[in-house]
Amino acid sequence: MPKILIVEDNQDNRDALSRRLERRGFRVVMATDGRAGAELARAELPDVILMDMNMPEVDGWEATRRVKADPVTADIPVIALTAHAMSGDRGRALGAGCVDYHTKPVDLVKLLQQIEGILGARGEKGTSA
Ligand code: MN
Repeated sequence: MPKILIVEDNQDNRDALSRRLERRGFRVVMATDGRAGAELARAELPDVILMDMNMPEVDGWEATRRVKADPVTADIPVIALTAHAMSGDRGRALGAGCVDYHTKPVDLVKLLQQIEGILGARGEKGTSA
């Protein structure tokens, strides 16, 4: 079963995402800040990382930089989650090494499609459904 790491400082967002992903059959691990997120990525080696970009202290940009700079985690796909539909953010996210970009509020149907598209492209099996 694919494992998803959610790095998100907002508890409501974490709860909503994890509940939906677990219902879909994914294993979910979570971190509440960028520092812990990068460390958990190394420890858990998730199949996909959902990275909130707006977090205090170590934000999602810095955490993504750490994940991409570490050879152990560099190949893990990161989907950036940002509250701002700024026209430059997509390019910035892709430039930071994110494989995709999702604007909040999270559209869970669309986000699941993105995750499953990434897993499929990497030759991973999704759920049996
Ligand atoms: Mn946030």
